[in-house]
Amino acid sequence: MSSTPSASTPQPRDSILEINAYVPGASGEGSGGTVHKLSSNESPLGPSPQAVAAFRSAAEHLEAYPDGSAHALRTAIGAKYGLDPARIVCANGSDELISLICTAYLGPGDETVYSQHGFLMYKISTLAAGGRPVAAPETDLTANVDAMLAAVTARTRVVFLANPNNPTGTYLPFDEVRRLHAGLPGDTLLVIDAAYAEYVRRNDYEAGIELVATARNVVMTRTFSKIYGLAGLRLGWAYCPEPVADILHRVRGPFNVNAPAIAAGVAAINDSAQVDASVDHNDTWLPWLAGEFAAIGIETAPSVGNFLLLRFPDAEGRRAADANAFLQERGVFIRAVGGYGLPDCLRMTVGTEEANRLTVAALTEFMNR
Ligand SMILES: *Cc1c(COP(=O)(O)O)cnc(C)c1O
Repeated sequence: MSSTPSASTPQPRDSILEINAYVPGASGEGSGGTVHKLSSNESPLGPSPQAVAAFRSAAEHLEAYPDGSAHALRTAIGAKYGLDPARIVCANGSDELISLICTAYLGPGDETVYSQHGFLMYKISTLAAGGRPVAAPETDLTANVDAMLAAVTARTRVVFLANPNNPTGTYLPFDEVRRLHAGLPGDTLLVIDAAYAEYVRRNDYEAGIELVATARNVVMTRTFSKIYGLAGLRLGWAYCPEPVADILHRVRGPFNVNAPAIAAGVAAINDSAQVDASVDHNDTWLPWLAGEFAAIGIETAPSVGNFLLLRFPDAEGRRAADANAFLQERGVFIRAVGGYGLPDCLRMTVGTEEANRLTVAALTEFMNR
């Protein structure tokens, strides 16, 4: 008997087929020689040694389920930031929080709004949940509050704002975030994704804690993947109004955060020396890189994170793709951002001194050839 075509095969909901799977930053694995991976905004200083020690001792007890409430971690985060642990939800990376929020708050045809070059997981998780992603235009590679508010309709359930944004590195000052919130209906959730908050050195910036504390429809997400150097463990958290925390607890897996991640996270958040060292490193090298790139004719967006968006000329042999190939031949792997609608750009993570100097030297050669 011949099989009938598609009708007899498993079919996902329609919106799933619109997803272009997330492409992680190139690692250069298998390319031989020394490789500098500057494609995923990982910490050049690595994790806290205390976090590594905590991870190792957790390895002695892998037979046991983790504490499903991640109590120790929520307590440590609460103590560090002065937050009520009952309003903190931990997850397997902040990517999982984005996904949980979409699962919980989107029905078929419901919309999410984010900015044009906003973090890709907002679109992917929206489509995965059966929702409709709506991108609002940006101005000068920066989220535009008026455009985002204009994109909000009666179907908008969630507005995502990465602040600072990845891959642009730009940010909205807090009065603009407040204006965005003030323009939203009370039943639309504003998610402030502050993955890079620890790096920001601007006195008009706030990560979002104050707004979550005073509003019923704002969530702030944070991650251990960037400044804490624990991307491999997958650990993120959200600070939420209590009713939102209650909803996220219903939809998350009962053991969504693993035991070594909880242990390492507690140690990491208590090692402020490691965070300070990472901030100092970034304060030194981010402006140095921007200055060097300007000097060789590569424009950069004004980043407040641990990465820079570089714009390449529209000239034969000098384009972003050419630069990417040129760097990869020299063992430097940075991020192509065509998937973000930025085909003429590449995103470079601030790396070790060696990696930073090597990248600048290579791009100097590239621009002068
Ligand atoms: C890196 C990043 C995340 C973090 O994701 P994790 O799942 O916690 O590793 C979240 N949002 C933005 C904007 C990021 O750049």
